[in-house]
Amino acid sequence: DTALYAAKRAGRGRFEYYSEELDTKAREAELRGAVAADELVVYFQPAVALATGELRGVEALVRWNHPVRGLLGPGAFIELAEETGAVVPLGTWVLRAACREAAGWRADTPAADELRLSVNLSPKQVAQADLVRTVESILAETGFPPDRLTLEITESVILRPDPLTIGRLEALRDLGIDLAVDDFGTGYSALSYLRSLPVSVLKIDRSFVTGIADDPEARSVCEAVVHLGGAFRMTVVAEGIETAEQAAALIEMGCTIGQGFYFHRPLPPSEAVALVRREFSAVGRRHQPS
Ligand code: C2E
Ligand code: MG
Ligand code: MG
Ligand code: MG
Repeated sequence: DTALYAAKRAGRGRFEYYSEELDTKAREAELRGAVAADELVVYFQPAVALATGELRGVEALVRWNHPVRGLLGPGAFIELAEETGAVVPLGTWVLRAACREAAGWRADTPAADELRLSVNLSPKQVAQADLVRTVESILAETGFPPDRLTLEITESVILRPDPLTIGRLEALRDLGIDLAVDDFGTGYSALSYLRSLPVSVLKIDRSFVTGIADDPEARSVCEAVVHLGGAFRMTVVAEGIETAEQAAALIEMGCTIGQGFYFHRPLPPSEAVALVRREFSAVGRRHQPS
């Protein structure tokens, strides 16, 4: 792969087509190497009760601590990972690292027993025959309880779900794991399917939350998802909340859980553990019941 990379460098501009293909291969190899070399880091973005700000859970968000380019967000590499299949070992790495970290918080802070952990699953992971076994063995290895784990799938997974996929999702549900549909509203989920799937959480996409105050259509989508969640007995989580106004509008609609920079940015592991301690220790608790 190093040779491929060199060939690509030498040929830059002369063989555009091959150059691009080689570039993809070289970048894929670099990414797979990063997973193997533990160059990835998991950040944790808190999810809070909108009315009180109390910590309810955290979402694991991968970062790549690149030796040359510095700390990279998933926007810089997740698409390539998805296209090349590198997202499968990457996703397994993230799940293991996140469960291990969160199991440590539970040991450190017993009062954090109900804190939930969310981890994103890519469509390629959901398509793996051994997905359920992989998840089960990571839970066994880390000791993180399945009934505190939420796995986030994308709307594309449930758009046209094949029986094998549905079977895998049901097996995860049967382990006690919650399934969330991430970025909900951006695709076109068939509602009839949604109801028959083992999904219990809908995450309203940030694009609708962003427009909630001054775009009537975005506001309508938020309301529709909240109502849908009520009808299907699903939890609705709003993501990308940046202002008090957006939080207030969501509370008024009946949405109870949210994530966003207004509450917390994604935190590096050291800050996440400090937040968990602060929130769940008797003295440090920010939000006493009144
Ligand atoms: P997502 O799962 O929908 O995660 C939410 C993204 O929105 C995160 O971006 C988060 O930092 C960002 N965000 C949260 N609150 C706000 C806000 O108030 N304002 C704005 N502007 N942004 C906010 P991030 O970390 O860059 O992740 C982007 C996407 O990459 C994620 O979207 C998810 O689809 C994907 N991703 C992240 N980690 C993983 C992973 O481990 N596996 C897979 N398959 N995908 C991942
Ligand atoms: Mg997500
Ligand atoms: Mg999301
Ligand atoms: Mg999103």
